[in-house]
Amino acid sequence: MPGRHKHTAMERGVTQFIAAVGAVLGFIGAPCGAPLHTTDTLAAESPEAQRPDPPSSNDFFVTTKAIAGERSKFITYGWIGFAGGIVHWRYNDANRPVGIVASATEALQRIQAGMDKWSAACNVHFVYDGTTTQNPDLVPPTRIFDGVNVIGWTAQGYSGQTGVAGVGAVGPPWQMVEADIALNYQYNPALDKTILHELGHMLGLDHSDVYNVVMSGPPSSSYGTQSTLQPDDINGCLSLYPFPTISGTISNGATPVSGVSFCAQPSAGVSCTASNASGAYSCTVPNGWGGVLHSPMVGGQRIPAQVFANVTGAVTRNVAATTGVPSCDLDVDDNGLFEAATDGVAILRRALGFGQASFAGLSGACAANTTAASIYAATDASFNAGGYNVTGGSATLATTDALVIMRTLLGLSGNAVVDGLGLSSKPGVVRTSWNDVKTWMNSNCRAGL
Ligand SMILES: [Zn+2]
Repeated sequence: MPGRHKHTAMERGVTQFIAAVGAVLGFIGAPCGAPLHTTDTLAAESPEAQRPDPPSSNDFFVTTKAIAGERSKFITYGWIGFAGGIVHWRYNDANRPVGIVASATEALQRIQAGMDKWSAACNVHFVYDGTTTQNPDLVPPTRIFDGVNVIGWTAQGYSGQTGVAGVGAVGPPWQMVEADIALNYQYNPALDKTILHELGHMLGLDHSDVYNVVMSGPPSSSYGTQSTLQPDDINGCLSLYPFPTISGTISNGATPVSGVSFCAQPSAGVSCTASNASGAYSCTVPNGWGGVLHSPMVGGQRIPAQVFANVTGAVTRNVAATTGVPSCDLDVDDNGLFEAATDGVAILRRALGFGQASFAGLSGACAANTTAASIYAATDASFNAGGYNVTGGSATLATTDALVIMRTLLGLSGNAVVDGLGLSSKPGVVRTSWNDVKTWMNSNCRAGL
């Protein structure tokens, strides 16, 4: 094992590093089918590197490439990715081939374009810490841990080699702590593809045994010509840097609720599977996501909205559905949310006696009721049943009951909900305090206040 490492983290345990030789783009167009057997193997490049025993839970570790074990799947080094999915890095502009890359700025842009592709595919983030004069020392032949991830330019020994990545981990458990990339300034006919490929090594991906993906390469496949991450590449990155998840079951008592497809606000980057026959659902979300998952009614079940903040890992959230529409329906557009701008306005307009046409456009995101007729019908049903008579007066009034509802939907609480409405002077009113109103709305509207 290396004795030259300097990184203090290394000194807590055994260190490991692997030199991952990069794209030999001189072989572009080599026929697929017969794996290229070149000196570009881990064993040849880094004979002293010792791989950790494959974790039993890691389905993606392949111990014997090209011969036994799993096939047709991305291959990792068997390590955990960089902590927190954060990869700090610095750029060394020395020896930049000006004929290929005109400026340091252009080099950074082209490197970061490759990083952006990986960051869009999985939960990894690159943090640029500026330029450095340190060399990518983890790359052969130096193989020195210096605690800095460097991307730079180095002449490389044999013809056709366009880039080399050196990666290191400390453990167990084996967590990546450093990765350097040396781009060949003497020969680089397809720099952007080389960068994208070497970044895959930097993240912890070995050559895949799948052909024609970014991480294709010897000994189990041959180098490809991809400049777009393929599903195999993306799955490999996701195995190391998974997105946060929200999962659980949706049930009404002991009865699972299937077929619920949550909508998300904000929705960017959120993907959910519909609940299955057991009521199990799952969503992946961007790192740090906060927002709400909601759904229209499904099979007569009302699905309460679920609020989340700063989701960074695996969150379990079981959801208790309720049967049917309550007597006081605060979700007249049926999207799983109680919203002032849609539901609240509809309730207020009904209390004011507006006609059906005035209910057009009062539907929120993912609403099941999107027409003026359906929104009016839902609002009218609760109104006629006395469902909005929050204060218990002799009649349901816009100036009292509907305003209390509107204020509540706007997020107000306490005296701000009931003050200034003259509740105590209205005929028959029995609920004038926030506590009374809240208790009544929780019971009759399932308001969750
Ligand atoms: Zn490679």
